[in-house]
Amino acid sequence: MAGEQSKKDIVIVGGGIIGCTTAYYLTRHPSYDPGRHRITLFEATKIAGGASGKAGGLLARWAYPSSIVPLSWSLHDELAREHGGAERWGYRRVQAGELAARPPSAASAGVGETRKRIGDDGGDEAPAASQLRAAGVPEGLNWLEPSAVLSYSSFGGPSNTAQVHPYQFTTSMASLAEEKGVRIVQGSVTDIEYTTTTPSLSAEAGRGTPRRRGGSSGTVRKVSGVTYAPALSTSTLQTHPATTVILAAGPWTPTLLPTLPISAHRAHSIVMQPSPSQPTSAHVLFTSFLSHPCNPEIYPRPDSSVYACGSTDTAVPLPATTALVAVDPARCADIKTQASAISPALRDAPVTTEQACYLPGGGPWIGKAPGTGDGVLVAAGHTCWGIMNAPATGKVLAEMVFEGRAKSADVRRLDPAKG
Ligand SMILES: Cc1cc2nc3c(=O)[nH]c(=O)nc-3n(C[C@H](O)[C@H](O)[C@H](O)COP(=O)(O)OP(=O)(O)OC[C@H]3O[C@@H](n4cnc5c(N)ncnc54)[C@H](O)[C@@H]3O)c2cc1C
Repeated sequence: MAGEQSKKDIVIVGGGIIGCTTAYYLTRHPSYDPGRHRITLFEATKIAGGASGKAGGLLARWAYPSSIVPLSWSLHDELAREHGGAERWGYRRVQAGELAARPPSAASAGVGETRKRIGDDGGDEAPAASQLRAAGVPEGLNWLEPSAVLSYSSFGGPSNTAQVHPYQFTTSMASLAEEKGVRIVQGSVTDIEYTTTTPSLSAEAGRGTPRRRGGSSGTVRKVSGVTYAPALSTSTLQTHPATTVILAAGPWTPTLLPTLPISAHRAHSIVMQPSPSQPTSAHVLFTSFLSHPCNPEIYPRPDSSVYACGSTDTAVPLPATTALVAVDPARCADIKTQASAISPALRDAPVTTEQACYLPGGGPWIGKAPGTGDGVLVAAGHTCWGIMNAPATGKVLAEMVFEGRAKSADVRRLDPAKG
């Protein structure tokens, strides 16, 4: 098959999880021949510098959209087995549950009486444990503050829920793609270049229906390259040839494809480092506090750190690059306050990272980019399930590039033309 393929010059725009995983699957496609095909990934700032490096990392068989989730769930498992994902990017199966909790002020009234961590030697252990069990908290989830817990209900377990460290996963995909010949260029793509041809009447007759593309009757608009601003040089814009361009710029995708409806909402998150004497467990918690708008999602990680993210906000519109994302320390402090209310381990844990990023919404859109020319594909707008759905996205895009259509999943409902 590889020998039959004409030479492809594939450009990926964006080094988030979607761009990097797509690069990985392009290099694993049976028709990929590094001697004939060239793959170049352009990243404006740094690989995984946006949401892909700052997300929670939850993977779920119960996520959406159903057209790609089963495939992506299997691929995550396959990738972890093939490349040592447990060690390399913290892949593990987890429990997930919703924790209804008292707000910090109310909870703190009880702190002190029940502060001793359950599992330590001490007289408070049995009463505290039974308090947690009475609230529905499962065995093994012993790092919660009993006085804060109103109720717990499980919505996922190891058979259908897992996690990765998104930054480690994304950078691993980039490295594995590079090992097979992908070139990563630090530069911001500013434009897509096209050639427009008018097929001869005889050629047109041979194909049947006259073509009407690129806005003018009978002309064919085909991608020919991209223009980009190199990051590490003061020189002017440069061009790079392309036979295929894949737009995977997350919430920035509309700068190159303005008609595609993709939203961008800022979200803050923190990483805490509990003491070794206060270990957490493989339980992801979606908190809901009485009468408080910040309901953090809490993700203990196998490296013993704990990630927590708060709600989205629209206070600051999407800046030009990931490097310019403004972090509001007050929003990070709010996440820490809420997390501290439910757990002495988190209350005592120093915050090692305060960060923000932009959640891309509206999609996911996967397929031919509408209103462009031949050879332009898009994969963007992956909502709160972009980490989960990246492998399936990359796999079907590789099929679209090398075989002309998605084979592993039916992605017609995600067609960007429906946007
Ligand atoms: C707080 C939070 C928690 C989340 N938790 C989860 C979770 O638990 N599970 C899950 O499945 N999903 C989660 N998500 C969603 C997930 O993070 C996103 O859907 C996913 O990261 C989007 O990836 P992306 O590659 O499309 O975009 P991004 O990660 O934003 O990457 C886009 C990249 O394109 C680059 N770029 C932009 N413009 C250009 C250009 N012109 N030229 C070159 N490069 C360009 C940017 O610099 C950036 O690196 C979460 C999101 C947030 C915000």
